[in-house]
Amino acid sequence: MNSSLIVDSHTHILPSFVNDNRKRYLETDNTFKELFSNGEKIASAEELIDSMDRNNIDCSIVLGFGWNDIELARRSNEYIIESHTKYPSRIIPFCSVNPNWGDYAIDQILEYLPYGMAGIGELHPSSQQFELEDPQIASFWNTLIENNLPLLLHTSEPVGHVYPGKGNISLSKITDFISDNAQLEIICAHWGGGLIFYNLMPEISSIFTNTYFDTAASNYLYDDSIFPIASQLVKPEKIIFGSDYPVISQTKVLNSLVAKIENKNLKEDVLGKNILKLLRKEI
Ligand SMILES: [Zn+2]
Repeated sequence: MNSSLIVDSHTHILPSFVNDNRKRYLETDNTFKELFSNGEKIASAEELIDSMDRNNIDCSIVLGFGWNDIELARRSNEYIIESHTKYPSRIIPFCSVNPNWGDYAIDQILEYLPYGMAGIGELHPSSQQFELEDPQIASFWNTLIENNLPLLLHTSEPVGHVYPGKGNISLSKITDFISDNAQLEIICAHWGGGLIFYNLMPEISSIFTNTYFDTAASNYLYDDSIFPIASQLVKPEKIIFGSDYPVISQTKVLNSLVAKIENKNLKEDVLGKNILKLLRKEI
């Protein structure tokens, strides 16, 4: 791999079966209902690859959505793994389960591990209705730590407009979770719901050793000046490029990032090097 790979670390795809059976999943899965009640776009692996080709994106992390319905989770996870098998150099699979499923959630993760699963996510505490601090699910987080699996966690702003899937987990619950699971590598989605700004507090930055922030859906949430400002708030290795495709086009987030982060080395770190290092993939 060369040094200037572009990796989109936050994308979503689903099999056509799910698209064809939307009505059914709107009834059985709370997360699906939150995100797809208004006919929102569902993208296939081929559409993602096409978008990546158009944007010169070398590979993408493909995520689930924080499922509640076991059957929907399985279909989604298997599709993501199959897509990785089909496009091994283009798609990095993350799988999504519900920690509330106990041993079943852990078994699912261990089942997908040999097939290239590189992390877990996107998990969504609000719509999946689990408590980050629940001692009953502590073994789930330990399984991720033991297997070097980063967690991509949906986080959202405590202020501002409401949007489908925003959720309402407080930032203090997230910092407690980070503090209690110091070994767990966590990518806080959507700039950490603003958590990135609190890196200026010494007691908060001291718990962020294994914490990262992605840029997913940035254009939908923030003014583009967040790109250079964020680069001053945290160490350069903490920021990870993600789009939230197909919610937001890869072109939009990529263009903003490239235009706003001027330093070449920093740009390369954010666009690919940081996530590849986190995933222990060769650069
Ligand atoms: Zn999210």
